[in-house]
Amino acid sequence: MTPVLIDGKHVAACVREKLLAEIAELKSRGHVPGLAVVLVGNDPASQVYVGSKVKACAELGLYSQKWELPAETTQEELVDLIHKLNADDRIHGILVQSPPPSHIDEEAVVLNIAPEKDVDGFHPVNVAKLVLEDATGFVPCTPLGCMELLKAYGIETAGKHAVVIGRSMIVGKPMANLLVAKNANATVTIAHSRTKNLPELCRTADIIVAAVGRPEMVNAEYVKEGAVVLDVGINRIEDASRPRGYRIVGDVDFDSVKDKCSFITPVPGGVGPMTIAMLMANTVKACRQQVG
Ligand code: NDP
Repeated sequence: MTPVLIDGKHVAACVREKLLAEIAELKSRGHVPGLAVVLVGNDPASQVYVGSKVKACAELGLYSQKWELPAETTQEELVDLIHKLNADDRIHGILVQSPPPSHIDEEAVVLNIAPEKDVDGFHPVNVAKLVLEDATGFVPCTPLGCMELLKAYGIETAGKHAVVIGRSMIVGKPMANLLVAKNANATVTIAHSRTKNLPELCRTADIIVAAVGRPEMVNAEYVKEGAVVLDVGINRIEDASRPRGYRIVGDVDFDSVKDKCSFITPVPGGVGPMTIAMLMANTVKACRQQVG
């Protein structure tokens, strides 16, 4: 079977294109969606992510603020900044780049973000809204992007068996909630490191979402003929043949599974590009909900 390669760059561009009309409408009423991105410390990968988010705002004509705080910033100072951003009318979305330095309690910080500005969808109010299928809530950007990919390629989820490998609050659990919701109607199994007979379980799946953080773990043994495979993984593995000395691979062994799949996301270029596009979508939604 020759699989359809799911082109995340293209779908992300379509998402951004659709947002432009909504942004123009908001601007015509005097509202510019605004995002504040807060980074504590100088982790190079986080700096790149934060830079990409601010750049994406600029490309769409959104207002953004980038806060780069020193690694020794205290929890109290960070929370003070969040309270100021909560009160700032120019800011509709707030994001604290993960992971913060170890002295910062990330969960406690998230509790201080006003739920209506929590565009990462990590605040308990938004987690509850996802479970309650309340569309006013914010859903974490990566699983939201996966659903957008399924929609863009007309992939049926109703009545299908989806196995989500991974139970993090950022990917696995929200992904499972989105798939089981009444507008998707999949039958969902969530797998994790204690799941038994994982390859056998995955072979019963019509849709596999791999969010494991283990390079190329999901191989042909996990995939039944005709399955849809979404690979969320971003893993750096050593590769002396590359100028940088490493390459990025997913959680799926692409070459091993591709001939069995009906649809598959490559890494890079599959799920990855969707995350920032959905962050932009969440920021515009936050603005729309706040200004009415
Ligand atoms: P976490 O480490 O938080 O969660 C990984 C999950 O995988 C856990 O639930 C863990 O189980 C499970 N797991 C680990 N090993 C196994 C195993 N051998 N068999 C079955 N399950 C296993 O990772 P994240 O959810 O944050 O990220 C997952 C992947 O997605 C990573 O590669 C990450 O880089 C990538 N990612 C990509 C994003 C994007 O923008 N495309 C955004 C976010 C993440 P347990 O709970 O039992 O420990």
